[in-house]
Amino acid sequence: MKGDDELKKIISAKILGDVPIERMPEAMIEGQTLNIDSVSGATYTSNAILTAVEDCVVQAGGHVEVLKLLSNKEDNNEQTKIIEKETEVVVIGSGGAGLSAAVKLGELNTDCIILEKMPTPGGNTMITGAAYNAVDPEKQKEQGIEDSIELHIKQTYEGGDKIANIDLVTILAENALNSIKWLESYGVEFKEDIVAVIGAMWPRTHYPINNRGSDFINVLVPVATEQYNQELMLDTKVSQLLIEDGRVVGVKAESTINKTTYLIKATKGVIIASGGFGANIKRCREYNPNIPEDIRTSNHPGATGDGIDMAVAIGAATEGIEYIQMLPIAGGGMVTTAIDNQIFVNQEGNRFVREDGRRDTMSNAVLEQPGKYFYMIADQNTLKSDITRDPVQIEQYVKYGKIKKADTLLELAELIEADPGNLVKAVEEFNKHVETGEIDEFGREVYQNKINTPPFYASARQTPKLHYTMGGLRINTKAHVLDNNNNPIPGLYAAGEVTGGIHGSNRLGGNAVADIFVFGRIAAESLVAENYLF
Ligand code: ADP
Repeated sequence: MKGDDELKKIISAKILGDVPIERMPEAMIEGQTLNIDSVSGATYTSNAILTAVEDCVVQAGGHVEVLKLLSNKEDNNEQTKIIEKETEVVVIGSGGAGLSAAVKLGELNTDCIILEKMPTPGGNTMITGAAYNAVDPEKQKEQGIEDSIELHIKQTYEGGDKIANIDLVTILAENALNSIKWLESYGVEFKEDIVAVIGAMWPRTHYPINNRGSDFINVLVPVATEQYNQELMLDTKVSQLLIEDGRVVGVKAESTINKTTYLIKATKGVIIASGGFGANIKRCREYNPNIPEDIRTSNHPGATGDGIDMAVAIGAATEGIEYIQMLPIAGGGMVTTAIDNQIFVNQEGNRFVREDGRRDTMSNAVLEQPGKYFYMIADQNTLKSDITRDPVQIEQYVKYGKIKKADTLLELAELIEADPGNLVKAVEEFNKHVETGEIDEFGREVYQNKINTPPFYASARQTPKLHYTMGGLRINTKAHVLDNNNNPIPGLYAAGEVTGGIHGSNRLGGNAVADIFVFGRIAAESLVAENYLF
């Protein structure tokens, strides 16, 4: 593996919050100072460490203010170091799209440097619930689920209001399963059961073994860096694409922890896999003023849209940039993210939307309910059949009062202060439809088990969060970035959430993870196959 022990140590860190624990005490001791920077994206942990150390200093009779004045930071007058490097391909971003591109490049004997601005790899992919849609006749048949690639294409295209690029949608649906097999070949393990994650509209959702995006990242990082010897540079933010004679020939990047600028030449091309901009609420609201001002985001702090900006600056076109998705259920204390066996009720205890519907429809419906929140109602059957939640974790939530649990629906209604009559009626109506399989008054089509077996559960209040940016760089079926005349920009490819045109105006739940692994690999394959032609 290229890089040093420090890099290895950081990569093994599971989450961003681990980084200050590793870095801050070391910096304090080395510099004998409390004047150190917090780690960007891990402010709470950073502040907690500082506060705890300050408290210890006081207890030991030391002087906090004096230690705050001492500095181990670099001298402001110090010159910026410029380091030049060369590789065959630069990959911007180490989420699912970037890592799958890097691994695919490795398979094709092509070297790359992966540049990641955050202190840990993985981006939004690391923190996703990891729902992955793929038509999988073998597994689906066992559960009696009818499905087809055509239906996946149709639901993706229609679920996005028919404005996506149908060729990209087709590639997504046709290659989703072989990307799963590809991930499995490197050791990612998937569960056998198939469900319908919220917004998927159909039971074709696969989950890796721990229901977490880290299941992908923790496998792909060592495959890329150790097996294929690709270089991963963390804390390194790309700011500019470098152009020569109309061709992208590299990038300029800056270290986020010291005064170093990198000029990295990429002899074969650059793949942008820098994700979306869902962490930048202000920017999202500029494109879509309907997004509430006080909305929170489910995104990691690095999702700020840099890749879109740097490509637009050299003439790239964008697609559907105004389409921004809110996820209806992005709160803690969920009973399950699969919709096969649960209903949503508002504070009055009434259902108000089809639970197997589009994410935008559901989110907008939630915002119209009293208090702009809802509860997920489930029972023992739900938990038994649910592959997305760990029963031990549910009990923890119950213990701390986030999830309510009761022997009867009447008691459950009391616990969430909803109208008991309404709640019982809502469940009875739902159960009738489970029996007949008929579409209900809200348009719900996906049914599995009745909600009739105690204990019954109500989730914590769920309210929408800003989740995904459907729009981004315009690409063709080869993941080549296009300009405003739809001509490929020589040397420039993109994959993942940074791109637009695949999900239209609304993305089906479970399609993003399929997208990053399908198009991450395609970007690498095209770049190598086109070999300077573009
Ligand atoms: P995707 O799902 O498309 O792979 P992710 O959000 O998982 O997207 O990953 C994108 C990664 O790109 C994140 O880790 C993010 O920090 C990184 N990134 C974003 N902007 C830059 C930049 N300017 N330079 C380097 N890395 C970046």
